[in-house]
Amino acid sequence: MSQDKEPHYRLDTLAVRAGHVRTNEGEQGEAIFTTSSYVYESAAQAAARFSGEEPGNIYSRFTNPTVRTFEQRLAALEGGERCVATSSGMGAILTTCLGLLQAGDHIVSSRAIFGSTVVLFNNIIARFGVDTTYVPLTDLAAWEAAIRPETKILFLETPSNPLTEIADIQALADLAHAHGCLLVVDNAFCSPALQRPLEFGADIIIHSATKYIDGQGRCIGGAIVGTEDCVGGDIYGVVRTGGTNLSPFNAWVFLKGLETLRIRMEAHSRNALALAQWLEAQPAIARVNYPGLKSHPQFELAARQQSAGGGVLSFEVKGGQKAAWKLIDNTRLLSITANLGDTKSTITHPATTTHGRVDPAARAEAGVSDGLVRIAVGLEAIEDIQADLARGLA
Ligand SMILES: *Cc1c(COP(=O)(O)O)cnc(C)c1O
Repeated sequence: MSQDKEPHYRLDTLAVRAGHVRTNEGEQGEAIFTTSSYVYESAAQAAARFSGEEPGNIYSRFTNPTVRTFEQRLAALEGGERCVATSSGMGAILTTCLGLLQAGDHIVSSRAIFGSTVVLFNNIIARFGVDTTYVPLTDLAAWEAAIRPETKILFLETPSNPLTEIADIQALADLAHAHGCLLVVDNAFCSPALQRPLEFGADIIIHSATKYIDGQGRCIGGAIVGTEDCVGGDIYGVVRTGGTNLSPFNAWVFLKGLETLRIRMEAHSRNALALAQWLEAQPAIARVNYPGLKSHPQFELAARQQSAGGGVLSFEVKGGQKAAWKLIDNTRLLSITANLGDTKSTITHPATTTHGRVDPAARAEAGVSDGLVRIAVGLEAIEDIQADLARGLA
């Protein structure tokens, strides 16, 4: 079943069915094609495949049926023409940069992005003559002021990590297009089950499939979604030649993850909202950041862009680092780890982990205070998560 032949199918149907082409064995479950290469019926057919005259598989760095099923399913869910799967979320960002940029180009990026993405832009991409300017995610005037004639892409994550600030995707897409730039949105926090940035004018979607698409903390992988022209052209070219491709086994785990993605994201969001509301009522807590809370300064924008708040929240414990560490160290159920997008809830202290290498002044400016704690809310019973936190708050 492919989306263009059956355009009337809804998201839930596409999540379960899109991209699956049955083999002659008539299997109900999608097969894993663990093969590095493919064989031809004749020398002439091999020549036709290699010249591109005849479509078909050659080598699994180029194409693989299991990887293709995952790509077509994710493209259908995001509403994009084309998806290219990659070895990791970072591989997706690197591949996008290599596909779209050249020396002398410029990136404008939200400063509230995944730590490794900052390292990638500053320490690796910069060596190839591409500069990055960082701006506050929600300051539209700052984005506009940072754009130069050589700017090619605007890059952001929404909601941001760990403060859950929301970008106005439509406004930033309009700004990007007015300046001849592409808007690239890392959609790992929401996934297409909660937010489809292409519908708001974004050009390219980045995924760390490692997070909610897998959803159970098993595999590393990523993906890029956009138009056939853009993603199917230069970006796919980098994967095919540069080898940032996804393994068929991981693709299979992810495509099965897509089948339950919406149900899981709604359950993560339900738990996170309940926890956020409970935390807001605790006297030991100064402030809770969660896009589903009415107290969130961008509650209405979040409600327009996202069908639910997602699984990640953060909050400010009164008493700074000492109180934050006490809370974390008193948990028995929650996992103390910086990962997210797992059925298991995780708790972390951003100022001394994910943001530990950021200098203290920049950290304070970004709102990552010493009392801030982040939880990626899993699928355990909400009462048990609350009881685990109540101990450290007492
Ligand atoms: C984890 C993450 C990445 C990197 O993905 P990997 O699969 O770990 O390479 C990029 N962006 C966001 C928002 C992430 O959470």
